[in-house]
Amino acid sequence: MPVLKPQEHYGFRLGADRKLARWPEILAYFEKLAESSDRLKLEHLGTTTEGRPFISAVITSAENMSRLDELREIQDRLADPRGLSPEDAEDLIARGKTIVMISCSIHSSEVGGTQMASELAYELCSCDDDVTRQILDNVIFVFVPCLNPDGLEIVADYYESTMGKPWEGGQLPWLYHKYVGHDNNRDWFMLTQVENQLTVEKVHNVWHPMIVFDQHQMWPTGFRFFLPPYIDPFDANVDPLLQHQTTVLGSAMIMDLLAAGKTGITHSIIFDCFSPSRAYQHYHGGVRILSEAASCKVATPVEVGFADLAPGRDGSDPRVASLAHPVPWPGGTWKLRDIVDYDKISAWACLKHAARYRDNWVRNFYQISRNGLDNKKPYAYVVPPDQRDPITALEMLQTLHKGMVEIHQATAPFTADGVAYPAGSRVILVSQPYGRYAKTLLEKQVYPDLRVFPGGPPKPPYDITAHTLPLQMGVKCLEIQEPFPAKLELLCELEGPAAQFSGLSDAAPPDYGYYICPAMNASYKAAIELMGQGFEVFRTLDPAGPEGKEAHGTFFLPPQEGLNEALMQVVRRLGLRVSAADPEQLEAVVMMRLGVPKVAIYQSYAATADEGWTRFIFDEYEVPYEVIHDANIKSGNLNASYDTIILPGQPAAQISNGLAPGAADPKYTGGLGELGRSSLRDFVEAGGTLVCLGPACDWAIDSLGLRVRNVLRGLKPEEFYLPGSMLRVMLDNSHPIAFGMPQEAVVLHAASPAFEVDADMAVGRYPPTGVLQSGWILGEKHIQDRACVVEVPHGQGQVILLGPRVQFRAQTRGAYKLLFNAVLWGSTDEVIIE
Ligand SMILES: [Zn+2]
Repeated sequence: MPVLKPQEHYGFRLGADRKLARWPEILAYFEKLAESSDRLKLEHLGTTTEGRPFISAVITSAENMSRLDELREIQDRLADPRGLSPEDAEDLIARGKTIVMISCSIHSSEVGGTQMASELAYELCSCDDDVTRQILDNVIFVFVPCLNPDGLEIVADYYESTMGKPWEGGQLPWLYHKYVGHDNNRDWFMLTQVENQLTVEKVHNVWHPMIVFDQHQMWPTGFRFFLPPYIDPFDANVDPLLQHQTTVLGSAMIMDLLAAGKTGITHSIIFDCFSPSRAYQHYHGGVRILSEAASCKVATPVEVGFADLAPGRDGSDPRVASLAHPVPWPGGTWKLRDIVDYDKISAWACLKHAARYRDNWVRNFYQISRNGLDNKKPYAYVVPPDQRDPITALEMLQTLHKGMVEIHQATAPFTADGVAYPAGSRVILVSQPYGRYAKTLLEKQVYPDLRVFPGGPPKPPYDITAHTLPLQMGVKCLEIQEPFPAKLELLCELEGPAAQFSGLSDAAPPDYGYYICPAMNASYKAAIELMGQGFEVFRTLDPAGPEGKEAHGTFFLPPQEGLNEALMQVVRRLGLRVSAADPEQLEAVVMMRLGVPKVAIYQSYAATADEGWTRFIFDEYEVPYEVIHDANIKSGNLNASYDTIILPGQPAAQISNGLAPGAADPKYTGGLGELGRSSLRDFVEAGGTLVCLGPACDWAIDSLGLRVRNVLRGLKPEEFYLPGSMLRVMLDNSHPIAFGMPQEAVVLHAASPAFEVDADMAVGRYPPTGVLQSGWILGEKHIQDRACVVEVPHGQGQVILLGPRVQFRAQTRGAYKLLFNAVLWGSTDEVIIE
């Protein structure tokens, strides 16, 4: 059967001005390719967040296709070479293939990759020249033509609605993913989003690609195209051989682009390799090749004169020729077709290198796997069973497990580095195929003090500088230096903690009611669920229950009709700690009665991923909420509908001004403005609770005239610089906003404020010394002893400023309770003093 040309299927040449191929058409085309070519096999990986089909296509020779399982098994064996003899390894290397994964347009406004995909697949299925033959014979190419199909449809719908308007192809006024927008590729270790889970589980962990080429786009007035080499720092946990392979392959791809006469190509700008959040493959034997093409306006061409080209944030200048950028682009018209061409040439260059140097790629992959086994410093990490929040501890281990990290459980007590650990402790040995992945996620980061010039301003990292999971998640996890004897069994599945009952049985409900431990995130889910079923839920303002003096805010449920069955069901399902309420204690403690939260999350048309993450977490915890926009706020009377309004993390000016006039339909421009400000002020003054997250705190300070000063505002980067790091914080956990938290915790500070406030407003503050726990900070003295979690009374209501990022990318689970508490506090009916 002849292979159908893309143009015949789509009815236009892909990349044509003002035309986009949509996901259903792309799916149909790949299905036709699979039907007509013995070189392409379509895999349905699952469905996206919004229920669309999510696919990959395996492309290789018909001969390879007929023994795909055998070739995959070879790669599996090389990925975990334990017990493999040198002779057997040589045999596998001789027979193995280079596994290449190319993935397109995870950022859906960066449409070029996905628009290119059909042509690349068509050419590989139809060409018979030597280069194509060599690729088909030596490479197994796993192609993910779109990493975010929902986003393609969101972007295309909006783009089509702007056609012919002055804002044609302008900025999308909402996220291009239901929850996380641009952060969908900051999720490659936490793996919270469906598309990322499917890609890792069904492509990465099945094929262990040695090469992953991920196609993106950047701003329109810079370089035309970026490829590696990257800039420093490269996380030292990434194998040096792999680091250099990235440089070699990126350079080879640039060479092919230059040979094809393309201009404006650069390497060694902006993009570093410190964070695993964008680079799962770096810890799983694969290079990550990032390309960034200059954008046009979706599919609408742009005119960019040479004089319009402007330096990037690192000062690199697209008008100046250099070793990293040999031929500047002369300026002119820049179209989607240009992006498609650059993307396609670089994809061919990548596949060609993979094929021509098959032996190198396979041999080095094996070597990198071996190097992982030789890594023995530290020796292990131990997660003991006595955790404040055992479910969050389990989630941390599950995160590692999704990344193929082996987790053992001690079947007997043992001693490591002189400390005794009980049976049931979980142990992660560093010497294992993905031990370096575990290490980077469990250790404290020490980010280098990089400056633009000696003594000059700091060089910005590409992402935040810390990702230490035990600190983010509030999990006790010990690094063990020296080898130790212990009876360990490998866990195939990670079981959750069983519910713990004290003084309770199903048959006889307790006489005085139940306590639920406030230290676990899941207890909040239970409390909200039970309130939703109509049960009365209280919290104790004093410590209560078996948890001891830190258990302020224990959830208390008095005996109620039907409660025992409902509560036992929830507690068992979630694995909570529950106990029978003590009558003597009940006499003494002060209670507050919770109300079902009536919450609104503000969604700016200057869309921010932080807003989406907030919804994601609320959906996970079943916290009820409504989304409100500028017009809802401006229309006033907010107290009638909501107890609490949340402003997710985004700069104050963005909240006030929104999208600039003319950037979109007027209904989407302008932000909260003066009317929105006065409406929110009225809401708070009439008794509402406004919760501001991270950078949004500045909006409330300015707009409501709070008696609070953000001491970090106005400091130069040379004086204070903290590009996303983990800090120690001291909390007053007898205050309802910090209930359930330990008195000393770790929080993530990223574009966050720190406050000078009246002493009675501070619920949390950074300590006087030893603030930095992981990452990088310059000028620590500026935040020492400063408040970061505050409650500011205002009129009859209150403003809660949560300076640290308490729900950042669904990672900072050790701080979730601060957000949940703020919401519950805002909906507290009354405080009962008995
Ligand atoms: Zn991108």
